[in-house]
Amino acid sequence: MPTQTSLNSSNIHDLLHEHLDIMFAECNRIMDTTENGQILNHLETFLLDEGRTFSNKILQHKLQEHVQHVEQTEESKQCQRCKKTQYQNKKSKTLTTVLGSLTLERLSRLCNHCELRTFPADVTLELPDAYTNGLKRFAARCCGLWSYRLAADTLKELCGISLSHTTLGKLAGHTAAEIAARLQNNPDVRHTPSKRPKEPSNFILMESSFRFSPPTAR
Ligand SMILES: [Zn+2]
Repeated sequence: MPTQTSLNSSNIHDLLHEHLDIMFAECNRIMDTTENGQILNHLETFLLDEGRTFSNKILQHKLQEHVQHVEQTEESKQCQRCKKTQYQNKKSKTLTTVLGSLTLERLSRLCNHCELRTFPADVTLELPDAYTNGLKRFAARCCGLWSYRLAADTLKELCGISLSHTTLGKLAGHTAAEIAARLQNNPDVRHTPSKRPKEPSNFILMESSFRFSPPTAR
């Protein structure tokens, strides 16, 4: 089987198609073995989980494909500071998304002239350190509505990911600070009254007033 980084578009297509065939076969098995009144519920549960896993695979493979494309450009092979040739090795990077976690392999380049270490694909694709915008948005919204424990349970249910209460709290705090900074730098948002209907959410509150109150223990 080809390694993750050696997959080309054709390999990716074949792998995903194979996964899709397995999903269809499982749908057939569920319909054949489940009583009529429960078929919809069982199919829904199966496709919620497997659909997310399948989408995660697409995201992982297509992103990895693009990382490799970026790393083949001449620009990515030069030191961004002194433009000299660099040594390179591979480093993995794990991202947590609303579709689950995924791991990318990308090149780390170390310039032996100026000693600058860079990850060209991270820079070009503006990859986040660990969490995608979608995941941060979900996390902040859940933390605005519920305690960290309930927020973590909800994220597990919706995204299939497990985050500790501490991690979730830090993530929500950072996201709130990012949103506040973005709104403060946007005069249109700052001076235009929000037409959004009121929601019982600290996240909405935080968007309109640049502050975020972490939920107290509930
Ligand atoms: Zn350099």
